[in-house]
This record gives sequence, structure tokens and C-alpha cells, in this order.
Amino acid sequence: MPAQNDDAVVLGLTEFSETSQIVSLFGARHGRLRLIAKGARRSTRQRFAPGLDLLERGEVSFLPARGDAQLGTLTEWVQHDAFAGLRRDLLRLTAGLYAVELVAALTEEADPHPELFAALVHLLGHLASDAPAAPQIPRFQSELLRAIGYAPNLDECVACHRPVRRGSPAYFSAAAGGLLCRDCEPAHVEKRRVPATLVGTTPATGDSRAWFELLDYHLTHTAGRRFQTAAQLAALLARP
Ligand SMILES: [Zn+2]
Repeated sequence: MPAQNDDAVVLGLTEFSETSQIVSLFGARHGRLRLIAKGARRSTRQRFAPGLDLLERGEVSFLPARGDAQLGTLTEWVQHDAFAGLRRDLLRLTAGLYAVELVAALTEEADPHPELFAALVHLLGHLASDAPAAPQIPRFQSELLRAIGYAPNLDECVACHRPVRRGSPAYFSAAAGGLLCRDCEPAHVEKRRVPATLVGTTPATGDSRAWFELLDYHLTHTAGRRFQTAAQLAALLARP
């Protein structure tokens, strides 16, 4: 099979042997890819200049997995953007690590999501710039949920379909898929309280930390596990 190529972001790097790594990528056209990079550790500078690093974007060439092989083989990596600016502060770096952790946990291998790839590249570019980082985090969470088909309904009570009025207290159920009004919430076991200040606002414009926590709750429920970087990100967002 001929080599294929894609525009991709590095989601993760795992040591595989003395001389090779397993590279997890998210490609614009191929979705999530796991590739073995032979010789990547010993001869990084010769073969994959300037070396693969987490959260960078580049052009990947690879041989797809064949037969019983679980992994394809990375044959070339040309870095296009290292997003160096996001490594200068812990909030920006942690937000980037959280984003790639979400993509790795909530997309399947070889299941393309071009709109999610665009959202990830947009997020990383924003985190690397001087623009405020915090509002970009819940914005990306909601874009990811939309891309994978789990966007919550935040306009009305998902049980009785009455609008939940701006500024009124409400509940959120991940299993029910959105907001619950006070009349309907007692019938649901899995739920969390939504601050009244959040109701009627959007992830991109409302309280970033409160939106982050609500959407992380939904993402955690959807993935069936907690994310390693979530607690640190919540703590960083809470800093004045
Ligand atoms: Zn209701």
C-alpha cells in the first residue's frame, strides 16, 4: 500500500522500545492515528527534524496498518507549527494538554472529524497567542461535544421542554443530555446543580470556569472516566 499523508496534531507520544515510539496523532482527513515511529528516539534529528513533540502540528507521511499489524508506520514528519507560545504559561499549556486528552479519549481511530481538527488547530493557535486563554477552553469543549454528537441541550428543560429562564437555578443531567428545570430534576438521580449565573449564557461568553466544570462533567460522563489534566486546569482557572 502506498504511503499516505495528512495534516495532523500530535496528541501523545509513548516509549515503545529502545529506539521507537508510538505516536498518537489527530489528522484532518484520517481522524485519530496510532503509528510506530521506528528510530524516532535515537535518530530524531536525522529523520524527523526537528523531532516530534506534543501539541505540534505537521505533515505526516505513513504506511497504514496491514493484516494483523495494529499499528501503521510513520515514515516522515514535517513540523508546520510548534505553537511555542502556549508553552510559556501553565494555564495555556494545561489547556492544550486537556484538549488533546479529550480528542484521544472521545474519538475513534480512523474516524475523521475535519471540523474538530479545525477547532483543535484554532484552539492551539489561540493558546499560543496573547489573547485571553480561559474563554477558549469551554468553547473547545462545546465544539468537541457537537462534533461527536453529544452536544447538550442548554435552551430548555430536556424533560418537559419548557424554556429555562435566564438567571434561574437549574440542574444538568449528562444522561438526560441537558438542563432540567426544578420541577423535573427530582425524577433524575444523575445530575448536578447549574449556577443561576450560567443559565442563558454561552460557553464562549459566560463564566469560563463554571462552563468548564459543567462541560467537563458532561465529557467525563460521556467518556466514562475522568481526565488527568481536568483538576489542574480547574485550579488554574480559579486563580484570579
Ligand atoms: Zn422540566
